[in-house]
Amino acid sequence: MSQPVFRFAPSPNGPLHLGHALSALTGYEMARTYGGRFLLRIEDIDLARTRQSYIDAILYDLAWLGISWENPVLRQSTRFSAYRQATEKLQDMGLLYRCYANRSDINTALADNLHPRDPDGAPLFSRAQLARFTLIDEQRQFRFEPFALRLDMERAIAAAQTRLDAETLTYREITSDGTIETRAAHPERWGDAIIVRKDTPASYHLAVVVDDAAQGITHVTRGQDLLAATDIHRLLQVLLGLPEPVYHHHALILSRDGRKLAKSAGDQGLSEFRAAGLASDDVKSQLMALLPKFDRVDPAHVSFLK
Ligand code: GLU
Repeated sequence: MSQPVFRFAPSPNGPLHLGHALSALTGYEMARTYGGRFLLRIEDIDLARTRQSYIDAILYDLAWLGISWENPVLRQSTRFSAYRQATEKLQDMGLLYRCYANRSDINTALADNLHPRDPDGAPLFSRAQLARFTLIDEQRQFRFEPFALRLDMERAIAAAQTRLDAETLTYREITSDGTIETRAAHPERWGDAIIVRKDTPASYHLAVVVDDAAQGITHVTRGQDLLAATDIHRLLQVLLGLPEPVYHHHALILSRDGRKLAKSAGDQGLSEFRAAGLASDDVKSQLMALLPKFDRVDPAHVSFLK
């Protein structure tokens, strides 16, 4: 039986709040329960927002919670050549195209409330809309301005169907009561998603699938806010010929007014709980109460990979 591999993959653009701590603890405790490995990955492709002080604070907070991980910690900022190789593969398959229009151009042009949106709330983009931006594109191209690379979703899905020799793309999810479900993935709801951003040679979606594979992650544990992203992650895994992990998306800890926690909205970070005199055991035991019933997860679901 091969060893399962779990991970926590924070973006260092702010301090950890309780939701992040729950994600980290879920992966860590599942790894402990199943004799697996637990890895840490710093998702710092956004160089402009990354601060070393945030990385230091993340490591400190995790250690405070009694979470330990294997060294070395992988930093995505050291992985740009791997992302370029994956990009070339998609390009060779004819699945990417350039887009010079930026978020505000697109929001303005597709401001119509009736225009469909992707799961992150951005206007759904497809190649057909490119025509609206021809002028912008030509001018920016002429000035050698940076461009993003988008996935031609229709072609990408067709290519994945051919590779899989199946109509439907699926992923496996361990639910909170420990059962495993095979679910249909619907990457089309993301439209022609950005695969390579203008300002950095990857996007969250590309970097996460390339690195989960490179680190040999067998189980991706993260919050429900990333559930919809799994659809596009599965598509990219199939297109790039990467192994399929099993997923577990834990319920989100909400603020008193029912929002997703966000430091920017003034929600307390772990360091503030610490400063207020709370012991790590108190914080940890409250979070542990939220973990799924791993003991009910059939070990076969943890070991059947690889
Ligand atoms: N870096 C992402 C975040 O902090 C999480 C990535 C993942 O777990 O797939 O929201």
